[in-house]
Amino acid sequence: AEPNKESEVDVLIIGAGPAGLMAALWMARCGIKTRVVDKRDATVRAGQADGIQCRTLEILDSFGIVDRICKESCHMPEMCMWNPDRDGLIHRSSRIPNTIKGLSRFPCGVLLAQHRIEAILIEEINQYPTVHIHHNVEPVSIDIDNNNTHDHTSHAIRVKLKQVERGHLNHATNGVSSSPIRKLEHARQGDQETVHARYVIGCDGAHSWTRAQLGFCMEGEQTEYIWGVLDIIPLTDFPDIRSRCAIHSAESGTIMVIPREDGLVRIYCQLSTVAPGDDGRFDRSRITPESILEAAQKIIKPYKLDYKYRDWWTVYQIGQRVGNHFSAQERIFLAGDAIHTHSPKAGQGMNVSIQDTYNLGWKIAMVVKGIAKPSTLKTYETERRSVAQELIAFDQEYSRLWSSRPKKAITDQDGINIADFERAFLQQQLFSSGFGVHYGPGLLTAHDSSSNGWVAKCPAPEGKTANGEGQGVASSHQPLATRTVLGKRFPSFKVINHCDARSWHLGERIKSDGLFHIVLFAGDVSQPSQMDRVLCFAREMAERADTIPLHRGRVLFESQHNASTQDRGGVARLLTVHSALRRCVEMHAFPPLLLPYDEELGYDYDCIFVDEESYYQGHGHAYDGYGIDRTRGCVVVIRPDQHVAWIGELEDVSGLEAYFRRFLVQPSD
Ligand code: FAD
Repeated sequence: AEPNKESEVDVLIIGAGPAGLMAALWMARCGIKTRVVDKRDATVRAGQADGIQCRTLEILDSFGIVDRICKESCHMPEMCMWNPDRDGLIHRSSRIPNTIKGLSRFPCGVLLAQHRIEAILIEEINQYPTVHIHHNVEPVSIDIDNNNTHDHTSHAIRVKLKQVERGHLNHATNGVSSSPIRKLEHARQGDQETVHARYVIGCDGAHSWTRAQLGFCMEGEQTEYIWGVLDIIPLTDFPDIRSRCAIHSAESGTIMVIPREDGLVRIYCQLSTVAPGDDGRFDRSRITPESILEAAQKIIKPYKLDYKYRDWWTVYQIGQRVGNHFSAQERIFLAGDAIHTHSPKAGQGMNVSIQDTYNLGWKIAMVVKGIAKPSTLKTYETERRSVAQELIAFDQEYSRLWSSRPKKAITDQDGINIADFERAFLQQQLFSSGFGVHYGPGLLTAHDSSSNGWVAKCPAPEGKTANGEGQGVASSHQPLATRTVLGKRFPSFKVINHCDARSWHLGERIKSDGLFHIVLFAGDVSQPSQMDRVLCFAREMAERADTIPLHRGRVLFESQHNASTQDRGGVARLLTVHSALRRCVEMHAFPPLLLPYDEELGYDYDCIFVDEESYYQGHGHAYDGYGIDRTRGCVVVIRPDQHVAWIGELEDVSGLEAYFRRFLVQPSD
């Protein structure tokens, strides 16, 4: 909103909540010229979402920021179920792990206030030069130049921005960042700036301005469930107050207890006594923190619950809705609460929102750089719409279970059986921990050719590109890696660095820097015939350097922000994991493609790993974990968002090439 200024950016992001900031982080990592605007000021806020599931922790780790979050957050390893006994008094009926064991290298989800997570994301984004975050700025109009949308290099979207006047502008940094959030100098209310963007991402929350401008709507229902939320330092004798608890009382309703950082506890309390008005909405003004506390006190009886310090409170009626369109012409996208709303109890809101733009960001970056074809962007809606729909289905069942009272007798039709509740909770953990996400076959995810000719029945589910070019689906071979599921996030097991014997989770080596990873499971390379297959694979890959350019730089580490991957180009990084004993194979037995050498930096010692017993941390049994034959191995392609894209034999380099050719811009294009 610099007065009368006109500027150009590749990407404009509207909204600096979790979804917008994840999109911005991708753009920062990939070196894309980006502007983020948010109508709020940047002062510390309390409340809103707080749960970070294990999958989101993995994502944040891939950007090097998970340590800061884990250090500050409250960890939540346990879930306690409290239910009425025969006399109607609540008692602890079970204690279970809060997340299914072994799903992730992060053992359980954590809790941290949304504004702290946003602050850490902003602090990270501010390290990069191409992204600028402007608070106190909002859009006033948005237009697409329809004559130019076919040309993805054009800045076909025009957005007018204005400064939001708040009396004063501040340098607030949410308390963590030493680099101030950029503010707009000398702007007066009413001044407008015009930004021309190639892409816009509307991450402006449940009441999205961007969605309204596009004329899109949310489809679904407002439920009758009304919940109050209190963030307090509790004064209580309830023994499980520092564990996550589901407390079902006999007659008075349900509460969920969520322990938080700094001694806080969040209490979600079902408010069953509030009657809605004629429009189906309840009268918020009738609900106060005192009335929420009173309802919670009834449920938690005979234990006491009170507070002196309250951090935040809110009340909400659950709407379960999904947007009717996720993008306009794959130029203006919607993400996060702007395209799905649901209840907050399963801690999904912030996670699914972050994961929306984690899916979208690298795709836009690759198209902006001219590496990927624009048709790649269609996969955002196909992939994320199904997640949003599953989220709503999950939420409907979860809300019903939470909002129903326990059965009084076997003949009681209205109540829920507590054993059913506990079973459903366990089943739903897979979804709520974020590992249930499974992208179907499409342009970026190959289909399994061993599964009954799926391609013949369903050709080209991603449709055709703008110029009518059919995309089809690449085929690959799921049985070669039975536990590494096409379309799901690549699992992680411990392996050892061949060169220095250090033990790593393989997932830790797969950073979010916009590159695909081609993992060569090289098998037992101590056998000459297997090493011959590996040498042959390397030769074939080297011959395809034009269609699948390999990145020659090193993995980014937290302290090396500016050692940008862009400098060394390429679309994929090659990692090798073999199953021979380290002492049987010297690193120089591997061909240069697998052990790259740089004139200045020497060998890259971080790209060959072994599935072997480590000195101090046991055996990761990675080949078993991935379901791969230890002798013959296979090749697995992982997308930049860590989902498994293609699986094939070492000899199937042409199949690998066919996978990439479908969406990469080729030198001949
Ligand atoms: P948001 O976090 O809503 O971010 C949207 C951003 O866009 C905001 O910063 C906003 O200022 C900005 N914006 C909006 N309009 C404009 C505009 N016109 N121009 C510029 N900027 C704009 N989830 C839970 O899990 N538990 C909870 O208890 C919980 N409570 C909540 C309470 C409230 C009051 C709200 C609003 C949400 C709550 N949520 C809760 C939901 C959770 O916060 C969201 O699911 C999550 O934040 C979604 O992230 P997002 O980035 O999509 O949207």
